[in-house]
Amino acid sequence: MTEPLWVRVGSSSQGRPIEATTIGTTGPRVLLVGGIHGDEPEGGKIINAIAAYLRAWQPHATVRIVRDTNPDGTAASSRQNASGVDLNRNWPAANFRPGGARGAAPLSEPETRALYTEIERFDPDLVVVAHASRRGPFVNYDGPAAGLAAAFAGAAATTDPRWHVVHDMGYPTPGSLGSYVGVDLGIPILTLEFSRGHDPDAAWAAMREGTRAVIEQISLAQ
Ligand SMILES: [Zn+2]
Repeated sequence: MTEPLWVRVGSSSQGRPIEATTIGTTGPRVLLVGGIHGDEPEGGKIINAIAAYLRAWQPHATVRIVRDTNPDGTAASSRQNASGVDLNRNWPAANFRPGGARGAAPLSEPETRALYTEIERFDPDLVVVAHASRRGPFVNYDGPAAGLAAAFAGAAATTDPRWHVVHDMGYPTPGSLGSYVGVDLGIPILTLEFSRGHDPDAAWAAMREGTRAVIEQISLAQ
């Protein structure tokens, strides 16, 4: 199995690479994001395995993978980037609110601009973003993604029955990627919340089964 070819698509404010790779050339377009909060490394730890799995499977889909949107935060085990901005509150969504950890303006950060450019260029039919929560594991979604969220959670639950769908996070998320992509652009987006410190083998099993299920579902729908 060949290693995925990661290409630099942007740089963090401290100059770390933001890298992406593409698997497949046909079918629906799925964007996977390994992480956006640097203190939630659970998705990033299994992103190479997911890339290798997809290369071996060769689904009827084109999958773009952004390994880690926040490499400075990951290096520092910090939720925010090196400038103290929460990269999941810095999007040009209708509900963006300037100031504080949200940034002075949407896309004020090089990391959000890099992912924004990826979204513009790739034009995804589905976006899947990995996070982690003490309340995890569950799948949150925005936009027309209820069926895909159920498919992911159902498949992941075959590996760990704790997986379920949570539609409302229970707190406001102004300027989030989900608000921008799901609510404003109308593109289905799944926010995966692994449990904090999720065992990588268990996270990998859930991610593999969930990813397979949503790609199969979105392929059938097209
Ligand atoms: Zn998060």
